[in-house]
Amino acid sequence: MSNEKTVAFIGLGAMGWGIATNLAAAAARGDVASPVTVWNRTSAKAERHAAAFGTRCARTLSDVSRADVIITCLPTSAEVAAIVAKMAPELKAGSLWIDCTSGDPNTTRETARALERVGVKMVDSPLSGGPDGAKTGELTAMVGGDVNRVAQSIISCFAKKKIVHCGPIGSGHAVKAVNNCLNAAHLIVGGEALIALAKWGVQPEIALNAINASSGRSLQTEVRLPEEVLSRKFDYGFKLGLMLKDVRIAVDGLLSAEESCREDSILPLVKRLLEKSTDEQGYDADYTRVVRTLELGAGIELHQGAATTEHA
Ligand code: NDP
Repeated sequence: MSNEKTVAFIGLGAMGWGIATNLAAAAARGDVASPVTVWNRTSAKAERHAAAFGTRCARTLSDVSRADVIITCLPTSAEVAAIVAKMAPELKAGSLWIDCTSGDPNTTRETARALERVGVKMVDSPLSGGPDGAKTGELTAMVGGDVNRVAQSIISCFAKKKIVHCGPIGSGHAVKAVNNCLNAAHLIVGGEALIALAKWGVQPEIALNAINASSGRSLQTEVRLPEEVLSRKFDYGFKLGLMLKDVRIAVDGLLSAEESCREDSILPLVKRLLEKSTDEQGYDADYTRVVRTLELGAGIELHQGAATTEHA
């Protein structure tokens, strides 16, 4: 039963903070053992989480190594593999490792083999829904591996929107990488479309008003472009460098070398534009700033009301 399972969470970033908060709420309801333990590289964040939500702040990785369920949400699979390597000798045989990082499926398979050698099962469970979804627990989980009852009940504490079993270990990570390619592609093509219309004299808001009641609409035209770009907030909470990482996983890892070089293939184009944008705007810039790169190229700025022309 998962209500007796001790749970430890590693990585209190934009996503992890909210996920751990939902786990703390599950502990308060008695759905998992109380308290949930949290560890973060910058330990002040874990202390703040413990003070705010009644979690237990772990000082060292050893403090979390004996948990029945360990959950990671780190930038990439490299950090997950490094932490697994450090903790492996101390892990409890029969425990479960749930990786909520948007990771690389090939590295995940290797990490799962390393964990299997010490008797620990791994599932990959990357998430979609952003920091706001993490806060409310309304996330979608794309899960790879053997999803037993414990894994399902723990993931359902923070992925209340949907849990999809994608296939063997690593397949959640593969689906998540492709999902984010689509996310970035829709944002880029939506930004390009608004710039073209603005140059022609149509105000972006008016264009979106029509498009969002028509067949060209997407989450990006309905939400991200008006809320983050036209408002000039650029503050969704997902780093451009992390989006580039996901698109690289899909393009470099899932397409053949020949396919990823084709000039008439759209996903490699998305990758090249994100590379340019990350160089220009920085790894930590919000991913919606990829539209800023398009604006700079076109010499036009999109915002509410008429777009303005930018002079070099
Ligand atoms: P953040 O950059 O906000 O947080 C990263 C977390 O990882 C922090 O807790 C950070 O610790 C920790 N960390 C970084 N490097 C190391 C390291 N070498 N060793 C140990 N801990 C480390 O990232 P997000 O929360 O935005 O993203 C986490 C994962 O979730 C990524 O894979 C991302 O692609 C994915 N994701 C993000 C979404 C979003 O909208 N933000 C949506 C869906 C998935 P410290 O506090 O010390 O810096």
